[in-house]
Amino acid sequence: MMAKKVLIVGAGLGGLSTALRLASKGFEVEILEKYHQAGGRLNQIKQDGFTFDMGPSFFSMSYEFDELFRYCGVDNPLRFNELDPLYSVYFSNRKEPYLIHKNLDRLAEEFAKIEPEFRKNVENYLGQARGVFHDTEYRIVKRNYDSIKDYARALASVPLKHAPLLLRTMWTELSRHFESDDVKIIFSLVAFFLGATPFNTPAVYSLLNYTELEHDGYWNVQGGMYKITEEMLKLLEAHKVKIHYNTEVKNVLSDGKEISGFLDQNGEIWKADYYVVNADAASFRGQILNRPKYKDEKLDKLHWTLAPFTIYLGVKGKIKDFYHHNYFLGDNFKEYADLIFSMSEVPEKPYYYVNVSSHQNPESAPPDCENLFILCPVPDLRVKADWSDRESLADSIIEDLGKRIGYDLKKNTLTRKILDPIDWRDKFNLYKGSGLGLAHDLDQVGGMRPRNKDEEFDNLFYVGASTVPGTGLPIVVISSRLVAARILEEERNALLALK
Ligand SMILES: Cc1cc2nc3c(=O)[nH]c(=O)nc-3n(C[C@H](O)[C@H](O)[C@H](O)COP(=O)(O)OP(=O)(O)OC[C@H]3O[C@@H](n4cnc5c(N)ncnc54)[C@H](O)[C@@H]3O)c2cc1C
Repeated sequence: MMAKKVLIVGAGLGGLSTALRLASKGFEVEILEKYHQAGGRLNQIKQDGFTFDMGPSFFSMSYEFDELFRYCGVDNPLRFNELDPLYSVYFSNRKEPYLIHKNLDRLAEEFAKIEPEFRKNVENYLGQARGVFHDTEYRIVKRNYDSIKDYARALASVPLKHAPLLLRTMWTELSRHFESDDVKIIFSLVAFFLGATPFNTPAVYSLLNYTELEHDGYWNVQGGMYKITEEMLKLLEAHKVKIHYNTEVKNVLSDGKEISGFLDQNGEIWKADYYVVNADAASFRGQILNRPKYKDEKLDKLHWTLAPFTIYLGVKGKIKDFYHHNYFLGDNFKEYADLIFSMSEVPEKPYYYVNVSSHQNPESAPPDCENLFILCPVPDLRVKADWSDRESLADSIIEDLGKRIGYDLKKNTLTRKILDPIDWRDKFNLYKGSGLGLAHDLDQVGGMRPRNKDEEFDNLFYVGASTVPGTGLPIVVISSRLVAARILEEERNALLALK
């Protein structure tokens, strides 16, 4: 029998891993990608002898990558480095950063002065978070939903003892366990990955603290994060998967029941048996399929994660005592968190994150140089549409960072590149520049998130950050497993119908 053909729209991690799973199961796979190279947000910039990872710099749940390669019958070609410390956190009123160790005894020493009972308190806190993680992992997160009823049934299967964590905020929960504001702030940073603040997200998401501090920790990739994309491309090539770059899907052909083709920007028609969309699952439905429920006016009312403002800085000299992954915070956390989603001006004292991959991968910078990646999460384009002030925001962040680490970054800058939310939107079709896609409010996850099987077209599916289960590299890998399972099930049903 001839292999069935799958056309994937987007060569982000979601598209690439779905392609790999389906190609390894015998499907013929072709990919259309708008950008000039693969990876989506997991991309790379090369400039003046420096190599930068464009977006992600670390991940949790590393075993999801192992699962992906195992599924495809190959050894994991990537070498992962466990991060230790997991990260450092600088507060503006304190010269030395806190080092967040995964080893809880070392972490207790780090917090000895501010949280003397840390060891006992963190045990209690993580014990509860561990329970939520394992009681929802398979019941809620790693599964497909066909209806809201289906989702309600899944929710009802979660032990009732976790219900209070739906009613309390993450901050309230942290306050029940810890005395020190610094500890509470540090543990609440994960909330921003979800598109929320600790003051408005439910305490069930403390499960993220469990994933970082106890479960699997944080990892990056030897040779840089873009190695993930490169190794997947090699495997796809071996399966003869073709990728067409600079090709953007703009329209759709259908008979009302099934998709019969996608049209690119040149009017060329691309056909297959199955179609998988790795573009944003919500905005694709609105902008390409013209679904009223997903028109911009409707999407604007949903919650989206913050937009990235990113700076790539090639610097002369080696910067000592700087870790892979560093947060720089001010002294007004609550006020900042309350305003950051709605600020139409750039903050005077922005909070930001810095990653230096040349420490671990010296080949990513010329000798005696460092490559700094700076990420400042900012409101999306609904709130701040004009980025003509981008240079001054970059200048102020670089000046602040230089002061805080005691290194004249301005004088030693050899190369610099900025991507503002408009750039991020235009490169990868990120809705209003939102960096991680749809937020994870309880009414935007599970059976309430845009589904990975289209509601109208039988042969159309979705994968990636804005469909199930959600955003972040390992979660998107899970998304590819869920969508592959859908397509394999369709195939099985089709075969049964033939018998
Ligand atoms: C600055 C930044 C930092 C991040 N840091 C981390 C981190 O440290 N750890 C972590 O786990 N996660 C991180 N994330 C999140 C992570 O990058 C995403 O969750 C993940 O990469 C999303 O993968 P995806 O395949 O769903 O989407 P994408 O990577 O966006 O891929 C979608 C692809 O589809 C293409 N496309 C869109 N529309 C069309 C169209 N119409 N036609 C053709 N092609 C189209 C796009 O160009 C893109 O290549 C970060 C994100 C950003 C922006």
